[in-house]
Parts: sequence; structure tokens; C-alpha cells
Amino acid sequence: MALYPTQFIEDLKHHADIVVVIQDYVSLRKSGASYKGLCPFHNEKTPSFTVNRDKGFFHCHGCKAGGDVIKFLELHEKLGFMDAVKLLAQRFGVPLPALEESDEQRAGAAERETLLKIHEAAAAWFRAQLLSPAGVRIRTYIADRGITEATSEAQGLGFAPPGREGLKQTLLKQGFTQASLVKAGLLVQRDDGQTIDRFRNRLMIPIGRDTGSIIAFGGRALEKDQQPKYLNSPETPIYSKSRTLYGLHLSKTALRQSGFVVLVEGYFDFGQVFQAGFPVVASCGTALTPQQAQQLRRFVGKVVLSFDPDAAGQGAAARSSELLVAEGFDVNVATLPAGSDPDTFIQRNGSAAYGERLRQSRPYLDYLLDRAAAGHNLNSDEGRVKFLAEMLPVAARIPDAAMRDRFGDRLAFKARVTDEVVRAQIRKAAVQKQTAVHSGSMPSFGNVTKAEKGLIWWLIHEPGPALAALEGLELGDFEGLASRSVLDLARKLNENRGFSPSVLLERLSMLEAQLVTGIASEPEPPALSLTSCVREFRRGRYERERAAVQREIEQLQTRGTDNGVEINALLARNGDLGRLIQALVIAEE
Ligand SMILES: [Zn+2]
Repeated sequence: MALYPTQFIEDLKHHADIVVVIQDYVSLRKSGASYKGLCPFHNEKTPSFTVNRDKGFFHCHGCKAGGDVIKFLELHEKLGFMDAVKLLAQRFGVPLPALEESDEQRAGAAERETLLKIHEAAAAWFRAQLLSPAGVRIRTYIADRGITEATSEAQGLGFAPPGREGLKQTLLKQGFTQASLVKAGLLVQRDDGQTIDRFRNRLMIPIGRDTGSIIAFGGRALEKDQQPKYLNSPETPIYSKSRTLYGLHLSKTALRQSGFVVLVEGYFDFGQVFQAGFPVVASCGTALTPQQAQQLRRFVGKVVLSFDPDAAGQGAAARSSELLVAEGFDVNVATLPAGSDPDTFIQRNGSAAYGERLRQSRPYLDYLLDRAAAGHNLNSDEGRVKFLAEMLPVAARIPDAAMRDRFGDRLAFKARVTDEVVRAQIRKAAVQKQTAVHSGSMPSFGNVTKAEKGLIWWLIHEPGPALAALEGLELGDFEGLASRSVLDLARKLNENRGFSPSVLLERLSMLEAQLVTGIASEPEPPALSLTSCVREFRRGRYERERAAVQREIEQLQTRGTDNGVEINALLARNGDLGRLIQALVIAEE
């Protein structure tokens, strides 16, 4: 496998601020010399995820995940090393060295680039059609739905006219091929082989990545009998429905500033809530996926669901809510009067009244509990059993143990059974769930001595003196140690004049990186000085040797009489080792 030159990777890492990269996924705040946030690799409510900007690594004290900026991308985006390097280079606009890309990969990147250009051109054309005289009817329709010109422009709304080839002809003239227009999902191929525009006589809603690049379209029917009511782009090499949240690119700054997001279902709900000045994204009718939840987590920890009241507790909305709870979000439900959705509610009652509904939103679990309680006759045994059967799985998915217990207590109260019964059942269900989730979790290191921890800490924070200390150590000093592979690697890099904390972090396995970043994320230097560390390594080596010598002596003694010379030599060595150890102990005092 071709590799990127080490120097390139070092330059890239120097250029790519780890805090900036991780901020794309995790909201971080400064805490002393490092940054803290909620770990993206496990569910938690209090931040144990730290990022050290100067030394270029992250570490989670909860799940032990750790490494450099590349390892973060490998873990978070589930990429291999090479792809993580590529992503990082793209993120910072650093050109990649040429040699390593296969033809196939290059073709893939070029294709995605073309598809993005096609969407950009199509959005511009749809927009122009809306603003043309032919679009007046649609502009009236948008205005009648209470969407202002400014919102329409922000959303990039457009109009696909009824003709079959309007877009096709325009884009062919711009030099795009028919094949790529089909691939983009903008043309459909009919049975006779002819291609026509997919979107005809529709209000067009561009769907963007959070960066703003348009990757798909939603098309709303404009006639009463036109089917389907909403027609969306198919999945393409640049568009995956399960990874896209509508409106994130428009709202992301507001999300970061406010710390919460209103989750609505439709494009028009989005338009109204956005226009009313609230941070909002739309799920577009289907249940949220874990990938979408992860995207949200990069910006907020709190979600207010604003769905049709009849829908909030069931179907897609309920599945979304439960996923968000399970992913550790604070989830509230804002209820609206029966029959209204955010779109119609704001149009009728104004944005202040809607804001009031958001303020009065209640925690999702409270909402569910009351709803389930109202749905069963809790005066009958049967009703109580059904009620519990409905709520126990919900409880089991609450990631935080204390919160789960509190919820359990309230369940017990409603169902009039003892707390202990309910708690035990929830715990059982939660444990089953956890074993399923964490079965792939990584093993941990054995006992790491103080000296190992010390040397590793200094290697990252004060490489100069630490390397000098390392040079005074021998391979034998590391024998049998838990961190041996790490120290060996540091030694080798140093011998080849290629040591830097950054290179070391990059060469470590996932497991080694956990160990090293865990040690390095300690804010204070360890109690042992480097000199003491070296003495400790040496002492450990002598002690291992003395133990081996003593075992050998015992074996020889039990075997018989004919080995006095050997035993004497070993006893002498044993004595030497004892004195060496003693000298090190005295030096330490
Ligand atoms: Zn973690």
C-alpha cells in the first residue's frame, strides 16, 4: 500500500487544529489548558472528553477513547487511516501528494464533484423559473402560505415547470452529460430509453449538506390531484437521506448559539419556524437515524420536538424521540392544539405564541408517561401490566443510570408497584441492551507502573529531556512492561531521528493511543521526575532478574547435589542485584 510521506502528515497535522476539527462534531469549551465536551463515542451527560490543542490529542476519561486528530476522524467517521488523512486535507484545503490515489478513487471524487455542480446549476435554474413571469402563480402560493421573500430566498425555493425537458436541455447546454444527469437523479429514464425531467410542475426545495452544498431536492406537488404530494431525489453518490437533516446549513449558527434545536417534520414547518427566528431542522417525515442524531450532537444537546400533537407520541415521531433520548439528548415535547402543526399554528397565532409553546415544552419522558397512563386503566391489574410493558423498554433505553432510576420510581408510583420491582426490571433490560452495544469494546492495558506513566507523560509534554532519559534506558528495561510496545516505538523513532509527540501518537494502535492519551491528558506532570523514572525502570529490571535468579536457585536446590558451583554463581549474582537495587533505593531517597 502506498503511504503519504511522513513530512506531509506532520505538516497537515500542524495545519489542522484538532480543536477546530473536533468542534465540527462536538461542542467544546475551554477548561484550563484544554477543552472539554460531551464524548461522541459514548453516551454521557457530564463532559469527560478532553482535547489538548497544543499537544494535538483527545482523550475520554469515560470510555478511554483517545488519539490524535487523524485517529479522531478514523474513529468518528469510521474511516481507515488513509481516508482520514484525505478528509483532513480536504477540510483544510491542503493539496494531497499525487501518487497515492488509485484511478478508481479519483474517478469517484471527480464524479461527486460533477454531481455537486449539477445540483448547483439545477437549483439556480429552478430559482430563476420561480422568479420568471411563469412563476408568478407559485410565488403567490408561497406568499399565501405565509413564507416571506427573504425566507424563500434563504431556503432557495424554486419552480420546476410542467414541461418534460426544461432542466434537461438547460443542463445539457451547460455541458453536463445525460448520464450524469440521470446519476444525479434529476432525469428519469423511461422504458423507451428516453430521459425526461424527474421534477415537473413542482415547488422545488433544495436539500443541502450542513456546509451548504446542494445535494438533492424535494419537490412539492402544485395541483390537487398531483401524486405524490412530495417527490424527493433518489439516493445518489452524494446524497444519503439517512445522513441528511433538512435546514441544518441554515440553522447551524443559531443552534450553536442557543444550545437547542426545534425539530419539525415538514419543509413548510421549517420555513415558518425559521422565519419566526427559532433554531430549527426538519426530519422530513421519517424517523431520525443515529447518523442524523450524531450530526445534531455536533451543535446541540437539547431538542424540542414540535410535531402534530396526535403524532408526537407515535410512529416516526416517537421513534425519533426515543432515539434522541437513547443518544443522551435532553428531549422536550412542545404540544400544539389538536389539528395544528407549527406551520398553521404560527400563521394563526404568531411567533410569540409559538415561542411560548416552546418555553412550556415538557420533558419527553413526562409526556410519554402521562400519555401511556391515560391510555390504560391503572385500576386493573391487566391495565397496570400493559402500562409497564409499554414503558419498561422506554426506561431501559435511558442512558443515564440515575435518570433511569428516577424514571423507574415514577413508573412504579403510577403503576402502584414497589420501586424495587420496577428498578430491577429496568436494570435487567438495560444490561441486556448494554451487552449488545458494548460487546465490541476494547480490552484495557494491564498494570502500568508509575515510572511508565511518568516517562510517557514527559515524552508528550517535554520530549527533549524525556528522550535524553529514554536514551539512557535499554530494551531490557522495558521487558514485560504493560507499555512496552509504546516505549519500544518511541525508542525506535528516536534512533531514526523521527521522534515527535505527534508522530508517536500517529503510529500507535487504537489501544496504545488510549493508554498514552489517558496519561498525557493529566494536567500536571507525574510525581516522579525523569531521573526517578529511569531509576525505577532500572530497579524494576533488576528485580525481575533477581526473581528469575531466585527461581533458578530454588530449582537447582530441589534437583540435587551436583550443582554447587552454579548455585554459588547465582547466589553471587543475587547478592549483586540486591546491592544494585539498594543503591537505587538510596539514590531515590
Ligand atoms: Zn467517551
